[in-house]
Amino acid sequence: MNKESLLKLIELQKQDFALDKLKAVLDKIPVMIANLKAQLEAEKARAGETKARTIALEKKKKEKELELAQKEEQAKKHGAELNTVKTNEAFKALQTEIGFAKQAAGEIETEILMLMEQIDGARKDEKAAAAEVAAEAKKFEAEIAAHEGRLKQAQAEYDAAKAVRDQDAAPIPPQAMRVYDHIRSRGKPDAVVPIEAAICSACRINLAPQVIVEATKLKSLVTCESCQRILYRPEILAKASAPAA
Ligand SMILES: [Zn+2]
Repeated sequence: MNKESLLKLIELQKQDFALDKLKAVLDKIPVMIANLKAQLEAEKARAGETKARTIALEKKKKEKELELAQKEEQAKKHGAELNTVKTNEAFKALQTEIGFAKQAAGEIETEILMLMEQIDGARKDEKAAAAEVAAEAKKFEAEIAAHEGRLKQAQAEYDAAKAVRDQDAAPIPPQAMRVYDHIRSRGKPDAVVPIEAAICSACRINLAPQVIVEATKLKSLVTCESCQRILYRPEILAKASAPAA
C-alpha cells in the first residue's frame, strides 16, 4: 500500500461519509411519506365513522317506522273487530287493546321524531368531517409531494456522488478495497484511521512498535490488531515526497 493509494483511500472514505449521510436521508424520506399516508388514511377513517353513524340512525328510524305501521295496523284490526264482538266484556277488552296500541304508536312517533333530529345532527357532523378531511388531505398530499420531490433530488445527488466515488475507487488496489469494504460492512464506517502517538485513534489500543514501523514504511497495508481498521501516520503522509512504493 503506497502513499498515493493510502491518500486516495482516505479521500474515498470522506466521500463514503458523505454518501452515508445521503443514504440516511434516502432511507428516512420513504418512512416519513409512509407516516403521512397512514395519518391521511386515519383522517379518512374518522370521516367514515361519522357517515357510519348517520347510516345506523337511518336504519333505526326505518325499524321504528315499521314498528309504528304494525301498531297502527293492530289498532285498525281491533277497531274492525269491535263490530263483531258479542259481549260487553270482550268489547271493553278490545278497547283496552286498541288503547295500548295507540299509546305505543304515539311513543314510537316521538322516538322517530327524536331520531330525525339526531339524523340531522349526524348529517351535519358528517358534512363538517368531510370538509375537514378534504382540507387535511390537501395539506397531506402537498407534504407528501414535497417529500417525494426531495427523495428524487436526494436519489439523483446520491447516484451522482456514488458514480464519482466508484470512479475514484478504481485505482485503489483491490486487496485494500476488500479490507476497507469489509471493515465498513462490519458497522465501522471509519475504516481508515490515524495513529495518534502510537495509539489506534479508533479503539485506543497501544500499537506494537512493529506496526508503527510498517506504517512509516508505507509499503504494505497496516491494520490495527484489535479493531482491524486500516492505520496510517498523518505526519508521514503529510511529508512532501513519498518513499518509493
Ligand atoms: Zn484499533
